[in-house]
Amino acid sequence: MRFCSLASGSSGNCQYIETDKVKLLVDAGLSGKKIQESLISIEVDPSTINGILVTHEHKDHIHGIGILSRRFNIPIYANEKTWISMESQIGEVKEENKITFNTDKTFEINDLNIHPFMISHDAIEPVGYSFYYKDIKISLVTDTGCVSEEVKENIKNSHLLLIESNHDVEMLKVGKYPWYLKRRILGEHGHLSNDDAGKLLAEVLCGKNECILLGHLSKENNFPELAYQTVANILTEKGINVTKDISLDLTYRDRPSKVYNF
Ligand SMILES: [Zn+2]
Ligand SMILES: [Zn+2]
Repeated sequence: MRFCSLASGSSGNCQYIETDKVKLLVDAGLSGKKIQESLISIEVDPSTINGILVTHEHKDHIHGIGILSRRFNIPIYANEKTWISMESQIGEVKEENKITFNTDKTFEINDLNIHPFMISHDAIEPVGYSFYYKDIKISLVTDTGCVSEEVKENIKNSHLLLIESNHDVEMLKVGKYPWYLKRRILGEHGHLSNDDAGKLLAEVLCGKNECILLGHLSKENNFPELAYQTVANILTEKGINVTKDISLDLTYRDRPSKVYNF
């Protein structure tokens, strides 16, 4: 199984997952051109993508979806409510490429099992995903203001976990965002802070070589080093050595992460 974060952040999100028989994108929130270039940079031919899974209908997650689907005849997977709220934003898509799944119900694409689960965000029915292939599990959770016990159960025992580390609370509070936006981000349907990510990881990790990627970092209210260090400090306090017990990495707004192989 291979994974690469092609981009993560409020300017656009797109994750890549590959098994022997499937090549998928989770979200396509950059321009079609940019996503094509990113795929080529990791030696993936964009025309070989088998599907695009949608987490929610915000623009930073769906911007390039319609274009890619039309250009390469790629099926798009989303839950029913997300389809209703994004359909008018993505342009004409072939009927056969509109695939609906049920949140909390596992489905298969060829040799890959996919479990979408409910998260807490100001979208119509936002989801995170766990992917199961042979004995490998990958989970992705960004764009959530809080994390329920169900989400914790869903992401436990992942070999790779991409988790949101959106903002530093103090930077956000003193920053230039208007108050309503600060309240939205800090609220339970907003985004996870660096502290939230650290505490969540301290709770769910076993320290058995898991690969952790911090994602959806804010450009205005965070620094990559600050996100990394805040999470690392919380994990260290909990007795997890971030260089020996796990691998802790960042994702980037403007370039792909390294490619992870399992
Ligand atoms: Zn987002
Ligand atoms: Zn969002």
